[in-house]
Amino acid sequence: MISVFENMDSRDHEEIVFCRDKDTGLKAIIAVHNTTIGPALGGCRMWAYENEEAALKDVLRLSRGMSYKAAIAGLNLGGGKAVIIGDSKKHKNEILFRSFGRFVQGLAGRYITAEDVGTSVKDMEWVRMETRYVTGISRALGGSGDPSPVTAMGTCSGIKAAVKKYLGKDSLNGLKVGIQGLGHVGYHLCRFLKKEGANLFVTDLYESSIRKVVNEFGATALENEDIYDADLDIYSPCALGATLNEKTIPRLRCSIVAGAANNQLKKEEIHSKMLRDRGILYAPDYAINAGGLINVANEIGGYNRERAFRKAEEGIYDTLLAIFNRSESDGVTTHLAALKVAEKRMNDIAKLKNIYLPKKNVMFKRDNY
Ligand code: NAD
Repeated sequence: MISVFENMDSRDHEEIVFCRDKDTGLKAIIAVHNTTIGPALGGCRMWAYENEEAALKDVLRLSRGMSYKAAIAGLNLGGGKAVIIGDSKKHKNEILFRSFGRFVQGLAGRYITAEDVGTSVKDMEWVRMETRYVTGISRALGGSGDPSPVTAMGTCSGIKAAVKKYLGKDSLNGLKVGIQGLGHVGYHLCRFLKKEGANLFVTDLYESSIRKVVNEFGATALENEDIYDADLDIYSPCALGATLNEKTIPRLRCSIVAGAANNQLKKEEIHSKMLRDRGILYAPDYAINAGGLINVANEIGGYNRERAFRKAEEGIYDTLLAIFNRSESDGVTTHLAALKVAEKRMNDIAKLKNIYLPKKNVMFKRDNY
């Protein structure tokens, strides 16, 4: 087993906080990866990890991902994440989350939490009772509510950027888009794509979800596995991760892969290269699905839905074009190009700090985000 500091060094983490409260049973780890650009924002995952090492590894991996996601989305935020060790179906209660909230407050704004796998808006409202450094609360309490429509809007905008770059078209009119997964994001994505004139081909595990988009948007239903072989212009994964792998990529007949699902590439370097070799343009998942993060980031200075939608629409379009152009100029995969674009922004902003300012900028002000 490697030490905590070795673990931190391997991914350049700034700080790890181990939180323990015997009375509430709280066992949590907060990882602050990088705060060059701003306070570390990232969700709090609740999971029954097999052991502490697995929890630590997960929080380190996820918090690093958040630094890149925020940097590429053009947000003034760093990367962080928290995990609560426990079974979210059995061990949740007000006191546990308020206890977690007190640890978040103790970081005085270096880390801002949000909901994630195993936690909900309701849990974050308990956290909110102890700290203001929390996002993802309900609209009724001044939060941003469900992030899915904004995520879908950003994804639609990313698809348009890919179409512009690769097919030289300004419109999605008449293009065939295959949407895999018609849940919170997939449904709204269908709605936006329909407005743009796209032809929709859809699949989901649930017949009722399929029927809804067939009836509402005139989509054509596909059998589950058939989406990989279908004659499409764009394949849009909006369900689970790792759907781009050695088995599926050779089957694809589309020109573009652009969807909202997290961790679409089973093995990032290998499978991004495989897509490139097949002449398929891949829109890196953490760049195209950043609408949810943009949405909660907007909560920090007082939520404004119109501003969040606009930032997701315009920001994601521009970001993806920058990634595609960098991939072309450097002759690298879009996956590598995205990492380079994010790192460049982090480095450029770090250098800005060479300029002396007499008074520290106040974070948490509406216009900083
Ligand atoms: P969801 O659970 O609401 O929907 C997922 C849908 O995919 C479900 O309807 C499910 O039946 C379907 N599905 C699962 N396996 C499938 C398969 N093999 N074939 C076809 N359909 C399948 O989830 P969501 O909130 O819509 O998120 C979708 C994806 O986008 C996830 O990977 C999520 O991590 C990612 N994402 C979501 C957001 C957001 O704002 N909700 C933000 C960023 C990323």
